[in-house]
Amino acid sequence: MNNHSPGDSLAEPSPAMLDVVVIGAGFAGLYSIHKLTRAGLRVAGYEKGGDVGGVWYWNRYPGARCDCESHVYSYGFSDELQQEWNWTLRYSEQPEILQYLGHVADRFDLRRHIRFNTTVLAAIFLESENCWQIETSDGDRVFSRFIVAAAGGISAVQRPTFPGFERFAGRSYYTAQWPHEGADLAGKRVGIIGTGASGVQCVSTLAPQVQHLTVFQRTANWVFPVWNGPTDPAVDRRVKAEYPHLRRASLDTAGGFPFDLVEGSALSVSAEERAAIYQRAWKLGGVMFMSRSFNDLLVNREANETAAEFVRAYIRGTVKDPAVAETLIPVDHPIGTKRPPMDDKYYETFNRDNVTLVDLRKSPLIEFVPEGIRTSAGVHELDVVIFATGFDTITGALTRIDIRGREGRSLAAKWSTGAQTYLGLAMAGFPNLFTITGPLSPSVLANMPTAIEQHVDWITDCLLFMREHGYGVVEPTAAAEEEWTRHSMEVAAGSLFPLANSWYLGCNVPGKPRVFGVYVGGFGHYRRKCDQVASAGYEGFLFDGAAHGAPTAARAGTPSQAHASHA
Ligand code: NAP
Repeated sequence: MNNHSPGDSLAEPSPAMLDVVVIGAGFAGLYSIHKLTRAGLRVAGYEKGGDVGGVWYWNRYPGARCDCESHVYSYGFSDELQQEWNWTLRYSEQPEILQYLGHVADRFDLRRHIRFNTTVLAAIFLESENCWQIETSDGDRVFSRFIVAAAGGISAVQRPTFPGFERFAGRSYYTAQWPHEGADLAGKRVGIIGTGASGVQCVSTLAPQVQHLTVFQRTANWVFPVWNGPTDPAVDRRVKAEYPHLRRASLDTAGGFPFDLVEGSALSVSAEERAAIYQRAWKLGGVMFMSRSFNDLLVNREANETAAEFVRAYIRGTVKDPAVAETLIPVDHPIGTKRPPMDDKYYETFNRDNVTLVDLRKSPLIEFVPEGIRTSAGVHELDVVIFATGFDTITGALTRIDIRGREGRSLAAKWSTGAQTYLGLAMAGFPNLFTITGPLSPSVLANMPTAIEQHVDWITDCLLFMREHGYGVVEPTAAAEEEWTRHSMEVAAGSLFPLANSWYLGCNVPGKPRVFGVYVGGFGHYRRKCDQVASAGYEGFLFDGAAHGAPTAARAGTPSQAHASHA
């Protein structure tokens, strides 16, 4: 362990006092490092993985692919970058996204700021110094005025325990920690547990490659096709010509995409017209099935039911065995209230002779045995088991780090009854800590790169504002945090989202409070609120203990002033 006090002179990347430590080197971390270093700040990034990429570094499972269109799921901060990069598929697969992020890291010379294979274990705010002390898995201890947590909302792998697993004689893999050298599954009897976005992609990709695939489904999901295929050169040319406009337009839409929800209720048109609209939206693919059909599908149960009925008919029309089709039809949540997995061949896959669907609701998983998995209906013999069992989402990546703010209070304790944040950007009692796409921001309900760029730009502006005004410490007020948290809960309660036992509500993690973790009021609305807060002198934030512009005794002569020139 290298114990350095803030005054020590250290070799990079552990200088005496950093301006910002960035946790994570995925989409959010990379852009944070780029933006903050360009603003003249001394920045060090810490990344658990061996290279850049974040979720795209870890999730190398067969079939891993993005569910947002490639042109959209990319950075907009550099026109040169978006003009020069060519996506091969309409929806990119994991290797190409990872290659893209590697290209970004090289092009903007970001790797030199990042320490790889290094996990941030703890961060404690030193109130006497107004800085963070950060401890990492390589034994380093560094000091930084600010932390930007870019650790991801869907990165903390959830590992459910199963009775008898240690007796299983076969091999096992997690989709979210897939071996870099790949897994040889040819000729194997493979079982997969989990039918969320990861499991669904894995199922349709693996089925043609393995001897037999047994899909253990606990909850059926609504799966939308994306109609993936090679990038259309004409579309590519058009998008590249219009990129500046498309990126700007994305800042005002509900989902951070360059299109908004269509107007009109599903209940305001005839059944024939509705069917035609659904058919057209289904052909657009992916998220557009819901966002490009009607505007009340996530707030009106009856409207939602019409969309559900369309997809039920699709499932029944695609899956040949009626009993299997019925098992694949969700019964416990309105469509869209859990994140819909996207895949072009999922339902068809169950027409294959080498695929078996096991309904764990009808025949629960009892235990692992040496030769496979025993459910109440008998033993399924398996050579390999794949866990596609999800993540401790939204808060997990941060609560797994021992983060302690004022008076040594832990962030995990603060959030033990549900996440509370101001704008999903900062927390009362945790000064100089910013979260990228944090809890109660639109995060996973918006296009992530759009949401990430908006957050990083906002945070950078805030740090520049602090530099301009000589402030050393920023922190939201408890009242602002309380009001934003209340508002977020109220908006969520007005939607259909709480009707599902989803990871948005933390329901997939035993013991996690059932509290909605995402702001559902729409990205455009949220972005405007963030801008208003900034233009009102960062309303709801205290700088050196007082609102901007207020006279403050706390500011004069505090240690924070000594560091203020860095930011
Ligand atoms: P997930 O959506 O949480 O799905 C986990 C699955 O595992 C669920 O089917 C769950 O069943 C099942 N499961 C968990 N514990 C179980 C247990 N003890 N026994 C039996 N089944 C169990 O996780 P994910 O598929 O990894 O996806 C998480 C999120 O990551 C997605 O929603 C999406 O936002 C993102 N993602 C995106 C992409 C993409 O863009 N293409 C791809 C993958 C993931 P229950 O539903 O019954 O809990």
